[in-house]
Amino acid sequence: MPDSSNAANPPGQGGPSDSLLRLIADSVPALMAYYDVPALRCQFANQGYAAYNGHSTASILGLTVQQAIGDKAWAAIEPHVERCTHGEHVKYTREQTLPNGEARMIEVNLIPHFATDGAQQIGSFVLITDITERWRAERTVRQSEERMRKFTEATDEAIVFHRDGIITDGNEALYRLTGYALHEVIGLSIFNFISPEWRATALDYTRSGREDPYEVTICHKEGHAIPVEVVGKTMPLHHADYRIVVVRDITVRKQAQEREAFIALHDTLTQLPNRHFLMEQLSQVLSLARRRHGRAAVLFVNLDHFKTVNDSLGHHAGDQLLCNVAERLRLGVRDADVVARIGGDEFVVVLTDVTNPDDAALVADKLLASMNGVFTVDQLPLTISPSIGIALYPEHGNSADLLLRCADAAMHHAKESGRGNRQFYDPSMDASALDILRHERLLRDAIANNAFELHYQPQVRLADGALQGIEALVRWRHPERGLVGPDEFITFSESRGLITPIGRWVMREACRQLKEWQDQGLAMVPVAVNLSAIEFRQRDVAAEIAAVLRETGLAPHYLEIELTESVLMHQTGQVLDTLNALKALGVGISIDDFGTGYSSLAYLKRYPIDKLKIDRSFVADTPGNADDVAIVTAIIQMGHSLQLKTVAEGVETEEQVGLLAGLGCDLIQGFVMSVPMEGEAARGWLMNHKTNQ
Ligand code: C2E
Ligand code: CA
Ligand code: CA
Repeated sequence: MPDSSNAANPPGQGGPSDSLLRLIADSVPALMAYYDVPALRCQFANQGYAAYNGHSTASILGLTVQQAIGDKAWAAIEPHVERCTHGEHVKYTREQTLPNGEARMIEVNLIPHFATDGAQQIGSFVLITDITERWRAERTVRQSEERMRKFTEATDEAIVFHRDGIITDGNEALYRLTGYALHEVIGLSIFNFISPEWRATALDYTRSGREDPYEVTICHKEGHAIPVEVVGKTMPLHHADYRIVVVRDITVRKQAQEREAFIALHDTLTQLPNRHFLMEQLSQVLSLARRRHGRAAVLFVNLDHFKTVNDSLGHHAGDQLLCNVAERLRLGVRDADVVARIGGDEFVVVLTDVTNPDDAALVADKLLASMNGVFTVDQLPLTISPSIGIALYPEHGNSADLLLRCADAAMHHAKESGRGNRQFYDPSMDASALDILRHERLLRDAIANNAFELHYQPQVRLADGALQGIEALVRWRHPERGLVGPDEFITFSESRGLITPIGRWVMREACRQLKEWQDQGLAMVPVAVNLSAIEFRQRDVAAEIAAVLRETGLAPHYLEIELTESVLMHQTGQVLDTLNALKALGVGISIDDFGTGYSSLAYLKRYPIDKLKIDRSFVADTPGNADDVAIVTAIIQMGHSLQLKTVAEGVETEEQVGLLAGLGCDLIQGFVMSVPMEGEAARGWLMNHKTNQ
């Protein structure tokens, strides 16, 4: 190093500071040397430089550059030296391979040294620093940046680089995602593109340097929101606020999640809330009503005979019907009310704003009326009747569970009281498990003791009032309640496997009774016996009936059996065989409650049927209800075209008689002629109507 007081003197040659200069020169991590110009002989070298070239600090002095560093190295650097000897400060880097094979990168500075007057160059400093570490680090960054760029362009995910939130770079996909070209966003804050409600979240992640994924919503250039998942990484070797952010469009995933959430809370068929969601909503409705001291009503809606539709027309038709019902229910209530489907044919309506019980009754009536018309399913006209049970908050319960149970009990009561109607809950409707067991025990006792009796209701010809038949209807002599009607125990017996003994008793008793009357010269008409679908399926009905007829001595053509439509739709082959066997015996066959199942000519043609009994629910509102008149008309015409006799059930008024006569109905049965009568009363009636036979 030149002494500032004597810049023209090469260093290392005497002077008081020589030893200090050498100490310093040997302590720095750089290699240093000084060559004179133009001879290029070494005047000074520190230990590092001398040793690097295989010399000592003393032995290197006086050697030319070429001698000092060897021919090969000289050949490589000669042009640089050449430039320096022409007064230029030359700086270059060079890769060196050490004897052990290690590659190192050095940076060489050749600095011209001029005489004090500045005119003449008298030497050159050589300053060599080993920059291998820095070079390697930079190379790594270069390579990783290279890789990063390739990667960012290759991916479909948008990538944005930012420093302190200011966008510095981005890839092609960013444009595809946001609609903004790169030049439009560089220099802007990333927060400009994040929907306001998500900015705090994004800021939190950016500030704290969190690297786990999170979800925000960003705005597209055209204004719409895009849900995205964002993963930010703080860049290696850079300041912590330099971030690379991968932005992934999760619209599809979000939609799937929303769909999943919807499915979890809704019935997939009708799109109505399911039971789970209903209970949630009902609880909310109740807590609101509680705060406001208001009222709410829960309507439990169940379709009568829905199973028949499913069994006979198939699930597709059943599904269609349920959707139609869902729609009519939805249209029948206010938007704030809840309509849910909680199972097969079970719907629940929650009325959120009810001032008094009459309001709930009105809505229930409206819903009943809305479903009274004809549904068209698979191009077939179909009628249904719902039964509705109503429970009120706070009168009948204060929890969602309790109210639903009350409404359910009320619905069952509605079914028992003739279907197609609505009932308010009443505590007497609760049937505990204990009650059911007791009911079953009493019924078993009744079977053991034959505690049943038959009542008889005449069927007469409309044209002249002549007796054409009598229907046997069973009653239970209940030990406490007196006579109990079949609606209260037939379905129950079926579910407890008790219908067979009851049915057998009815069949034998009906045949015995008619034979007894005929022996007295009365009732030379058939007796009609109801057979439940279950009996028909479980027993060899034809053989049993033949045995009963033999036993009682009743002529087969004086017996008719009444079957519901659902029987006919099951196991076609077996049903057909049984019906043919009965037909062969001479027993008559009627279809009961016709119209409540489904109206298809197909099976009517297939089976040997004699009579169609028009369900009394269609007759009840005639002639006032135009829909019902249309249905009754259609059934009578259909019956005639198939050469079947039509019987109208539940005829109560003279107006109905008039209408039916006009429509050409063959027979009528109902209170207008007579209620069902117990044996003695029936005998009396038969005596009085002998002339009409
Ligand atoms: P169903 O076969 O439709 O019987 C006619 C029902 O209508 C009877 O009810 C009868 O009392 C009632 N009824 C008759 N005329 C009128 C009328 O003008 N107006 C009104 N509102 N109702 C009328 P019941 O006796 O309570 O029987 C109910 C059901 O129980 C019967 O309906 C039948 O399905 C079933 N059933 C009756 N006896 C037996 C039986 O021995 N075995 C089976 N399996 N079921 C039976
Ligand atoms: Ca019947
Ligand atoms: Ca009937």
